[in-house]
Amino acid sequence: QTDDARAASIPRYVRVNQTCWTVADALETFQERGYQEGDPLSFPKAFQQDQHIPNLFAFHPSVRFTEDSLYTSGKIILQDKASCFPAHVLSPPAREDAVVIDATSAPGNKASHLCAIMQNKGKLYAFERDRKRFSTLKKMLAKAHCNNVEAVNLDFLTVSPNDPKYGRATHILLDPSCSGSGIVNRMDHLLDNAEEEDDGDSERLNKLAAFQLKMIRHAMAFPSVQRIVYSTCSVHAVENEHVVRQALKTEEAISGNFKLAPKRDILPAWHRRGIHDEMDEPVHADSLVRCSPGEDGTNGFFVSLFVRANDAEDEWQ
Ligand code: SAM
Repeated sequence: QTDDARAASIPRYVRVNQTCWTVADALETFQERGYQEGDPLSFPKAFQQDQHIPNLFAFHPSVRFTEDSLYTSGKIILQDKASCFPAHVLSPPAREDAVVIDATSAPGNKASHLCAIMQNKGKLYAFERDRKRFSTLKKMLAKAHCNNVEAVNLDFLTVSPNDPKYGRATHILLDPSCSGSGIVNRMDHLLDNAEEEDDGDSERLNKLAAFQLKMIRHAMAFPSVQRIVYSTCSVHAVENEHVVRQALKTEEAISGNFKLAPKRDILPAWHRRGIHDEMDEPVHADSLVRCSPGEDGTNGFFVSLFVRANDAEDEWQ
């Protein structure tokens, strides 16, 4: 299958931004515009509410919303379904005292999703080290009506886990730079994660994996953190299962009691899990979520959830 053929099998996903709009109003608007409920790949005016992600709708791939006032006003966010998994899995609380970190935020789709789940309450620190991408992030957060987010132009690795402000974080989303090998949809390539093309070079993949592991270890060093989501838009086990299995063996994971969350806590209804042969303990692969580009109606993606053992130990004993 070519990338174009795969892209044609991925619906146009629209996330209703709950900071400023409701699903009921969205449904009414879509119906007024002549959209009818049905399989989004079956006819151009078909649309459907997603069964895994709340507030997400799927439209025919030919539907364009980029010039639409719903998009320019921030009422809808154009975000691939798989890229909605991390914030949904992290599931931060909607409480005034919540402290959450998005360690690698730009362009900001997952940060605005976290903010919507938090109902604009508490504090979300959104780090981004690249200056240009940081300015995109700030625009995106303003457009999405995110009021509880403080965008910070810093390298997450330079942030002290004991900082009085950031050190209180209980939830960390880690969606670091990756090869982008899962991205087949050109639109999403521009709008979403990928920073550069994947050339499958194994030396480059190893370097990325070493950096990704370093980021997880740093997140695990935050004293109050209970949940860490690690995700990539890569299809390579080197950046996915291998990074996770190494992370579980690190000093930070052992002293911090971090384990993978059991399957029941990470999209249990999603069919495609991690690759068993790539894990030291094959059963751990069931705790991992994969999306196969084109086959699952999404771009290629990987999601894992680390939790402190007090949350997970019963399941694994
Ligand atoms: N989560 C974003 C979204 O959904 O819109 C996409 C994140 S993209 C895959 C990774 C981002 O992390 C890039 O913008 C990159 O510049 C940034 N980044 C990479 N290393 C970083 C670090 N050490 N600290 C902060 N940001 C970093």
